[in-house]
Amino acid sequence: MLLQGKQALVTGGRQGIGLAIAGAFAAEGAQVAVCGRGERPEAFPDELAWQQCDVADPAQVAHMAHDLGGMNILVNNAGIQIEKTVTQTSDDDWDRLMGANARGVFNVCRAFIPTMADGGSIINIGSISGNVADPGMALYNASKAFVHGLTRSIAVDHGPQIRCNAICPGWIETGMLDAGFDLAGDPQRAKSDALARHAARRFGKPQDVAGLAVWLASDAASFATGQCFTLDGGLTAASPLNPGLF
Ligand code: NDP
Repeated sequence: MLLQGKQALVTGGRQGIGLAIAGAFAAEGAQVAVCGRGERPEAFPDELAWQQCDVADPAQVAHMAHDLGGMNILVNNAGIQIEKTVTQTSDDDWDRLMGANARGVFNVCRAFIPTMADGGSIINIGSISGNVADPGMALYNASKAFVHGLTRSIAVDHGPQIRCNAICPGWIETGMLDAGFDLAGDPQRAKSDALARHAARRFGKPQDVAGLAVWLASDAASFATGQCFTLDGGLTAASPLNPGLF
């Protein structure tokens, strides 16, 4: 029970990585609230509290912070992906994507940091796409680079009371993975090629990210702050040279 007695908020936990993190926190003894844009989903786990909140809206986030009070653990997971280059991107795309992925992280941190308990842990879900550019995802890639930068600033400005780290997942099996590979001319071939470039020879699962989040949230990680932890099955450890030619 690594998180016994701790209060946690996970943003965007209706499904996917956020839901896995929320479930893993509850299994380790934390009291967990989850937020998302709609009503509480049907058949949502009883042990998870639900808050309706669009993280892109500062007023809704301030309201949620008032409702929930002080947290020990904050996970900024809510995010969307838009598969477009810069020239394809509309103003509305900018507002939706940067609203959730960049402004949302800022809104939640600004609202919750003042009441976070000493020893609190913030975990931002970045991406390997914030370090290397996935094709056709210009604003998404840039939004994740923002998350990595904000993570370091929060760690520096709010330590030692609060630790702040990012997890940078690679390809994790949720709807986002399929949407990414659907961009390829031959999605099946692109997937097989990508798998061959993973030292782990598999894509990640939401539970893989949850395992690292539990450690970062726990007191066992008390010396870890200001870092971006890559979790990608070894994909970005490999040289970019085409392995098929060697
Ligand atoms: P999903 O699309 O499955 O989940 C995203 C969640 O975010 C949804 O539950 C959605 O809920 C919520 N959300 C989106 N916008 C908002 C908003 N404005 N306010 C509140 N909630 C919001 O994606 P994943 O689980 O795959 O992704 C989770 C995080 O992990 C994202 O930040 C993503 O960028 C990141 N990531 C994912 C990778 C992958 O391969 N899957 C790789 C690297 C990073 P609702 O629509 O109900 O509001």
